[in-house]
Amino acid sequence: SIVVTGSTGHLGRLVVEQLLEKVPAEQITAVARDEAKAADFAARGVKIAVADYNAPETFDGLFAAGDKVLLISGNEFDKGRVQQHKVVIDAAKAAGVALLAYTSAPGSLTAALADDHRATEELLLASGLPYTLLRNGWYHENYTENLAPVLEHNAVVAAAGEGRVSSASRADYAAAAVAVLTGEGHENQTYELGGDEAWSFAEYAAELSKQTGKEIAYNAVTGDVMKGILTGAGLPEPFAEILVGVDASIAKGELVVSTGDLSRLAGRPTTPLAAAITTGLKG
Ligand code: NDP
Repeated sequence: SIVVTGSTGHLGRLVVEQLLEKVPAEQITAVARDEAKAADFAARGVKIAVADYNAPETFDGLFAAGDKVLLISGNEFDKGRVQQHKVVIDAAKAAGVALLAYTSAPGSLTAALADDHRATEELLLASGLPYTLLRNGWYHENYTENLAPVLEHNAVVAAAGEGRVSSASRADYAAAAVAVLTGEGHENQTYELGGDEAWSFAEYAAELSKQTGKEIAYNAVTGDVMKGILTGAGLPEPFAEILVGVDASIAKGELVVSTGDLSRLAGRPTTPLAAAITTGLKG
């Protein structure tokens, strides 16, 4: 089987959808912690396994020898993601899976956000399992699904200076994962994944202006000011600090990925930022 964890999340859904275009549904297992969220997959013949990263026993017997597994990194920052990911790696090791692919972060990223990914990569390599590191760069959607405050203030605010980002759409990263899960020769490979074109926040603001007909500017602020804005908008302080840390990394160029691995694996150019903006503006 091809087994996908986090299958009911944004990325996981796209992976399962794209897998369904390539392999018979009965060869796919979608791991969900909430079975109801996977009901549409079940209706299409996908096998559903209910398991939670926080409950190791739920992964007992879930994997079989020869499975190809995609571990999609978790989003519960306060629950110890490394330990959560270890639960999946240990179960995969016990079963003797043929491949464990993990959605990581770019090797260049030094922000605190990357710490869990580096630690998970170390555990995966130490496990001796055949692995693929899908070091996903930034999603367009991190920006384009959150346009309300930008449109309200006619400003893109970030503490990223003149830094550039080679983001891509989630669907692009899903295509890379599907290529690895359905193709050959990806054992023990590390892919640095990012969009074909890097953009600056000034360029992003200019594209938003073009598409909305409004005058939208990039307002580059300091990390401290950015943290104040984010906490003022209701974000918990630790999370605001993580995001400001990412902006600092962007300013240093750490989210520019120029390997071409993503379009190569996907077999097509990555989605332009402008297209994601168009989708985002439609809400
Ligand atoms: P989502 O938040 O949409 O999905 C996260 C998935 O993880 C969900 O399916 C969720 O399950 C599942 N999950 C979380 N905790 C557990 C748990 N304890 N047990 C089992 N499953 C769990 O994120 P995306 O799909 O957009 O992105 C995938 C991952 O990529 C994120 O989790 C995060 O690690 C990382 N990420 C990367 C970004 C980037 O720009 N490269 C940006 C943001 C995140 P459920 O559906 O039940 O909620």
